[in-house]
Amino acid sequence: MHRSEWDVIIVGGGSAGLSAALMLGRSRRRVLVIDGGEPRNRFSAHMHGVLGHDHSPPLDLLAAGRAELTRYDDVVIESGTVVSATPLDVDDIGFDVVLETGERHTARRMLVATGLRDELPDIPGLTEQWGRNAALCPYCDGWEVRDRRIAVIATDAANTHQAQLMRQLSPHVTFYSQGVSLPDAARVGLEARGIAIESRTAVEVVGDERGGLRGIRLDDGTEHDADSIFVAPRPVPNDRLLSDLRARSIRQNGVNWVLVDASGRTNVRGLWAAGNIATAQSSVPVAMAAGNLAGSDINGDLVEEDVREAVVARQRDNG
Ligand SMILES: Cc1cc2nc3c(=O)[nH]c(=O)nc-3n(C[C@H](O)[C@H](O)[C@H](O)COP(=O)(O)OP(=O)(O)OC[C@H]3O[C@@H](n4cnc5c(N)ncnc54)[C@H](O)[C@@H]3O)c2cc1C
Repeated sequence: MHRSEWDVIIVGGGSAGLSAALMLGRSRRRVLVIDGGEPRNRFSAHMHGVLGHDHSPPLDLLAAGRAELTRYDDVVIESGTVVSATPLDVDDIGFDVVLETGERHTARRMLVATGLRDELPDIPGLTEQWGRNAALCPYCDGWEVRDRRIAVIATDAANTHQAQLMRQLSPHVTFYSQGVSLPDAARVGLEARGIAIESRTAVEVVGDERGGLRGIRLDDGTEHDADSIFVAPRPVPNDRLLSDLRARSIRQNGVNWVLVDASGRTNVRGLWAAGNIATAQSSVPVAMAAGNLAGSDINGDLVEEDVREAVVARQRDNG
């Protein structure tokens, strides 16, 4: 018999983690969600592209999710940070999890839904605007600034695509190339659609006295007015637990992403990962879907184990 206190521990209670908890709670699983309370989109007042919740505060969605989970007796949500996870012994699939307070828990299965951190380009003033007047995703924050003056600050030649997506929304787009060398086709595409290419370096994001955005200061002291900034931060997955457990990963564009199947299963027995921890492309609906799939897959896996144990117990009882 397994000896774990919980069926499943979910590390991270954002859209992915809470969605998985819902599936597991509805399957009468004993679930502990441990959440650090820092979802990736916490800087934004409103989220978009989330059907039924368009233009609503992202933290409201998570609060509603937590409230819904109170219907399920065996789901517990705890605030805290998990600092380590180690496998149980070889005969028992599961994990021993330690929080920063020293509190320990064991579970038969674990889902890591810890999301990622956005590492912004090192431009003074940018952090202060992040999630308000500086954004990453045209689908999430583009429509609100349609027809406004948009500054796309490059970290990579691939940002030309971001500039073209913004051009769909506004004719006033400036692409700050920041010394990135652009393939000819990308440059021609920008020019063809009337996107200004600025080769002087943006050295500061200038705010106004009310905390709003005024513009972009260049290395020669010139200041350009701007209403909104789009950048592509470097995604840094919060994956220490996964790497400590030797979950396999793949390196893409300089970032290690945990390798999961369509249901979020890793190569480590009993370990799943879902949401932004496993892909940069995640949005709230995508993270929710990944959590939903992982939750049902984990329950299915536990049912299979329950069947195996029941068969063994029955054979033992029958002598
Ligand atoms: C500025 C901004 C605006 C965005 N706007 C939109 C939008 O409008 N629409 C949209 O669909 N998407 C938007 N996104 C993307 C969206 O935020 C993510 O896709 C989504 O949050 C991913 O959900 P997740 O559950 O994977 O991770 P998260 O929501 O980031 O949740 C991860 C949780 O895990 C916790 N955690 C991390 N490590 C630990 C640990 N060791 N122990 C315990 N807990 C831990 C964190 O504190 C956090 O609460 C936006 C992103 C950004 C950066």
